[in-house]
Amino acid sequence: MKRFLFTLPLLLPLCAVAESPTVQDVIDRIRAEADHPVRETTVDTIKMGSPDAEVTGIVTTFMPTLAVLKKAVELNCNLIIPHEPLLYNHWDSLDGFENDAVVAAKRQFIEDHKLTIWRFHDLIHDMHPDGIYAGMVRRLEWTAFQNPDHKMLFKLPVETRLRTFVDVLARKYPEAEIRVVGNPDMQFSGFGMAVGAMGSRIHFPLLQKDEVEVLVIGEANEWEAIEYVRDAGEAGIRKALIILGHAISEEDGMAWCAEWIQGIVPEVPVHHVEAGDPFWAP
Ligand SMILES: [Zn+2]
Repeated sequence: MKRFLFTLPLLLPLCAVAESPTVQDVIDRIRAEADHPVRETTVDTIKMGSPDAEVTGIVTTFMPTLAVLKKAVELNCNLIIPHEPLLYNHWDSLDGFENDAVVAAKRQFIEDHKLTIWRFHDLIHDMHPDGIYAGMVRRLEWTAFQNPDHKMLFKLPVETRLRTFVDVLARKYPEAEIRVVGNPDMQFSGFGMAVGAMGSRIHFPLLQKDEVEVLVIGEANEWEAIEYVRDAGEAGIRKALIILGHAISEEDGMAWCAEWIQGIVPEVPVHHVEAGDPFWAP
């Protein structure tokens, strides 16, 4: 306490003169800290706003929903760093949305409040560790189970019933609409996790590994990995699939991201605002 009182007068003048970073400063610092080359073709670009805007505060989120943008304005934050696109398609193309009322309302809100949206998708997955996995594994308390050489592979210390494993997930994410394919009484220890919407190109090679008896995913097309796992059960091959929902499967990664950015951008507050699960069920 004494030490704090001593240093406070020294810190105050420093704070008073500390200039707000620009959007470009923040992006440059993130890229430098990530210590991984930026992909030649990347979706990690400014979607709206300006690289020269002075940053008042930063919000990280899984999805830049209109509700998240409103919350960012309440928090006096003008730089939004989402994991996913602004306009419902991977490249944030305006094609087909030229006269769209939803897109117009969202873009108007961003212009009215002078927000800047910079997507942080490719690089956060390319980093070591992958920031999305770092946040998810921390929240799920799976650190001890993770294969140090393969971020997607895990092994439980004891054989566990699928139903028990899913119950733990459901308690962690009471708002999630978790769905499961496979025998609830199946015992397993090896599992995989493919966050987000990685697609069958990633899901099938994981499911083909003997050590992946259960695969936890964000989302999949319902006619691909989901039906594969249903047939696996019928063929006597022990496989199960747990579908968390895309939002649930990555949001804690963006919470981790807020803490990480605060460490490299200390001048302004950095908040994580959850987009939340979009679904309700009857
Ligand atoms: Zn992702």
